[in-house]
Amino acid sequence: MLIKILVDNTAEEGFESTHGFSALIEDDAKFLFDVGPNELFLKNAKTMNVDLSAINTVVLSHGHWDHGNGLLNLSNKRLILHPDCFLERFRKRNNTPVGLSMSKEQLQGNYEIVESRDPYWISDKMVFLGEIPRENDFESKESPFLLSDGSPDFVPDDSAIAIKSEKGLIVISGCAHAGICNTVSYAKKVCEQGMVFAVLGGFHLKELDEVTKKTIQFFMEEKVSVVGPTHCTSFKVRDEFKKYLDVLDLNAGNQVEL
Ligand SMILES: [Zn+2]
Ligand SMILES: [Zn+2]
Repeated sequence: MLIKILVDNTAEEGFESTHGFSALIEDDAKFLFDVGPNELFLKNAKTMNVDLSAINTVVLSHGHWDHGNGLLNLSNKRLILHPDCFLERFRKRNNTPVGLSMSKEQLQGNYEIVESRDPYWISDKMVFLGEIPRENDFESKESPFLLSDGSPDFVPDDSAIAIKSEKGLIVISGCAHAGICNTVSYAKKVCEQGMVFAVLGGFHLKELDEVTKKTIQFFMEEKVSVVGPTHCTSFKVRDEFKKYLDVLDLNAGNQVEL
């Protein structure tokens, strides 16, 4: 299977970076996973010689601007997402909007929208996980976001992709607001596969705190062979992962074959 990173907070020479995430995932089907905050995914795809007109499906990891605002730049695709992606949401810190800039109605003309809280199989091997249960006792305990009624927003729509492979499970997250360990545990359950081969994407870990420590411990216990923390994973956390695990440095413009 192939992953081409189209948008990330860092970029290879010749590519542009921005805060956001977008990747093209190819196995027994091909689809875009997130589209970043603007049209940059189109520009970087062109530089990579990727023809996005041949891609019929877009999957959104969750309803945050840095993963989804680029949706306004595409049309005539199927869009798979959790129904709560369209919630109005704000940063607690300064009350600025953090959700998608467009409504569901605005997208309906350009997309065939498939909403799913349950796992949704994109192909025989690849599944959109839908709503991820928050089961462990250390992840997703706090949230920096609020809903429009002032209640905390734990981003219930946060999802990920799981891919069954002979080497073991491959999990690709957007921001992992559900917690990357919760995400991996749920992927194992949905795919009925015990071995985890690779986990890539945003892990939403910033500090060398208890959550990061327990996450690294979890990855070691699961014997994850390939780890690719990117986007919303800080560099000090990536360096900490590198002490214990095989870590891939991912940037916009990278192509990863697993
Ligand atoms: Zn997010
Ligand atoms: Zn993000």
